[in-house]
Amino acid sequence: MVNWKVICDFDGTTAQNDVGNLLFRTFADERCFDIVKAWKAGKINSRECLQHECAIASVNERQLASFADSQQLDPFFKEFVEYCRSHKIAVGIASDGLDFYIERIARKHGLPAAVEIRANHLVFAGESGIRAEFPYFDSGCGQCGNCKGYHVRQAQADGNRVIYVGDGLSDRCGARAADEVFAKRERDLLKFCHENRLPHHEYDDFGEVLTKIKDLVKPQ
Ligand SMILES: [Mg+2]
Ligand SMILES: [Zn+2]
Repeated sequence: MVNWKVICDFDGTTAQNDVGNLLFRTFADERCFDIVKAWKAGKINSRECLQHECAIASVNERQLASFADSQQLDPFFKEFVEYCRSHKIAVGIASDGLDFYIERIARKHGLPAAVEIRANHLVFAGESGIRAEFPYFDSGCGQCGNCKGYHVRQAQADGNRVIYVGDGLSDRCGARAADEVFAKRERDLLKFCHENRLPHHEYDDFGEVLTKIKDLVKPQ
């Protein structure tokens, strides 16, 4: 009997939008584009990227809450979670974004508390400042703020086979460590899988992930 756990990225995967990216486009200035560019080019790591972005953001808790409330999940994510729940497949979210909006969106859309969320911690500071704390940094690769590879390996050490679902560059460590990888079509993670000859499944939404996972977890 195999125990399965699915670990999902949040921005652009569980959530329709890259909410983290959109947050800084909304509440910071155009410097956020250069910061993300530097991260994508490997000039700064994702912890530095998030630190720099937070430093130029101007947003209070009320504004961020209403911004989060306007965000949508993947249309099939809840159905996916329900299926996993009824088949004893654990589901978790691992994000290199910020816990405040992830938890707010998860609650608003009624995700069960069993869907564990592991992300960087957002702290509101002063009138309209935010900063990030990195509770998982020391367990990771030293490049990611919250290394998904750590969460995958931890689930494996607990006796699970891990399916990783993601879309972007922050999913590289998670994908490398996972037993099965789902990479969203036309996104950076898919390109990374191709370049590194990493076996993977392609998907557009969680409806498609669900169909393939039903097959994958069938006792052989
Ligand atoms: Mg993503
Ligand atoms: Zn990492």
